[in-house]
Amino acid sequence: MTATPGNHEAPILDVRGLRISIASDEGPAQVLDNVDLTIGPGRIVGVVGESGCGKSTVIRAVLAVLPRGAVVEHGSILFDGENLLELGPREMTRRIRGKEISFIPQDPYLALNPVFRIGTQLLEIMRWHAPRGAEGGSSRYDRAVRRRHREQLIELLRIVQVPDPDRALERYPHQFSGGQRQRLLIAGALACRPRLVIADEPTTALDVTTQLEILKLLRRLSNELDVSMLFVTHDFGVVAQLCDEVNVIYAGQSVETGATADILETPRHPYTQALIGCHPDRSEDLAGIPGAVPSPLAPPSGCRFHPRCASATAICRERRPERVWLGDGRSVDCVLYHETVGAASGD
Ligand code: SF4
Repeated sequence: MTATPGNHEAPILDVRGLRISIASDEGPAQVLDNVDLTIGPGRIVGVVGESGCGKSTVIRAVLAVLPRGAVVEHGSILFDGENLLELGPREMTRRIRGKEISFIPQDPYLALNPVFRIGTQLLEIMRWHAPRGAEGGSSRYDRAVRRRHREQLIELLRIVQVPDPDRALERYPHQFSGGQRQRLLIAGALACRPRLVIADEPTTALDVTTQLEILKLLRRLSNELDVSMLFVTHDFGVVAQLCDEVNVIYAGQSVETGATADILETPRHPYTQALIGCHPDRSEDLAGIPGAVPSPLAPPSGCRFHPRCASATAICRERRPERVWLGDGRSVDCVLYHETVGAASGD
């Protein structure tokens, strides 16, 4: 098990060496290759990278909703010690997805059905995961159970600060602002008391003020409800405000991991340095990253970042860099650190 900075309890989620390809007309696309990801109890881990780096595939793999043609070639996804890759679709649907692991989508304007009331949509999540036979006596939604769920939901709407929660359940999505809709979706994600929440860039569609409020809310909920979070984003500014740890992904590969403060202060991997250099709050001299993320159909040889890396040498084109552990749960996949920092860290 990889140590989680500042937390040495067993991880809630432990993804090891995940390699996934997807069949296409042009051949197999290697969308993930050797991705590691560890999330401890109550921790928020950011998965960061440009579009096309494989962030969404990580989410889909954990939720077992990979696209048709996807093949998990290697690795494991341990959730509380249980390998999710060994569970069947029925077990994932009934026991894990939406219950133990829930999801906050990217766009609050698209995620709610416009023709159903908020209460109907959120209660459906709770009904679906209510124990069958024990409380309802059947798959019917027993009135007493429904009443109890409604009370729990109203309490949850209070926690996520939706005004007038009782009436909110009777209203339709178009009657709420973008920020309020995202709060409703967060309430939906928390409705079944999950242990892990996966958030897919949930503030991208919001203005900056609302974005800040939602990030603060997620931080508070993680602390108060002791929920772990996997937060996917391309924005290091968001990571700085919310995440305890970071996992930087490039072209389907983990390239750097560690505590957020450490990575922001001393990014090691040239890709991490370039990403941080692209953020207006973190760099006075906005540089951009030359080139583009390579196609998973034909990734570059050796280090996949070498065509865009100013520090690349001949060995980078030939050989894939090994993972170097730097201590305190920090790792980097880059030949620049093979001997120097790794040896100096004493690991
Ligand atoms: Fe750059 Fe080489 Fe390090 Fe890859 S391994 S990031 S090409 S220096």
